[in-house]
Amino acid sequence: MSDDTIGLDFFEDQLMSVLARQVLAMNPGEKLPSEREQAQELGVSRTALRDRLGRLESMGVLERRTGAGTFVRGLRPETVSESILLGLVASKMSLASLRSVRCALERQAAYEAAQKVDHIAVAHMAVALDRMDASDDSDELHEADVAFHRALFAASGSRALIFFADVLHGVLAPHQKLSLADDRERLRVVHRDIAEAVSAHDPAMAMKAIDEHFLWLDQLILRSEAPERTVEVPA
Ligand SMILES: [Zn+2]
Repeated sequence: MSDDTIGLDFFEDQLMSVLARQVLAMNPGEKLPSEREQAQELGVSRTALRDRLGRLESMGVLERRTGAGTFVRGLRPETVSESILLGLVASKMSLASLRSVRCALERQAAYEAAQKVDHIAVAHMAVALDRMDASDDSDELHEADVAFHRALFAASGSRALIFFADVLHGVLAPHQKLSLADDRERLRVVHRDIAEAVSAHDPAMAMKAIDEHFLWLDQLILRSEAPERTVEVPA
């Protein structure tokens, strides 16, 4: 671990810090000791313990099964996505504003990837490009697109960028069903430009290529008629 890795003491609540450390050291599927045992061991009241377990459960880290006990689920990007989605619905954020956050993350990932050049991750980007070249089917192009961007984030080597990209993907993916087959030539060009800039160790060019990608995506969204919407709960 590097020196600036976030420790679990960042929770202001000391009991939360202790519990979070304990829970994150366990594997998904593992069972927590009973509330009585745990409260005794930690020297806290069962009410205080139950309150913190409830908070960890609402974060999706724990799962309480009636009659069976409390189990570790692990912290997964998709559960964070669900929490963010609730926040988005409540604050009526627009999809366009979320896409601009995605663009910012991708630009930073491209910048860091071009500085590093992780050959394995770059090879994965090349595989995704080959998949784009090999198919005219919209679903397959979409999968290749997702694989390409995952590889780009992997190439950045930044765990934080990868984590937030996964969170945002969980939020945006259900709202981004574009027909990529209609514009497959441009799709191939914008992605190839990103990969080439990363391989050429050119961070500025890589960021510019990302901007081109999102300009293209914005045009595609405009053309697909989709009027600007806020995130809504499906009827
Ligand atoms: Zn793309």
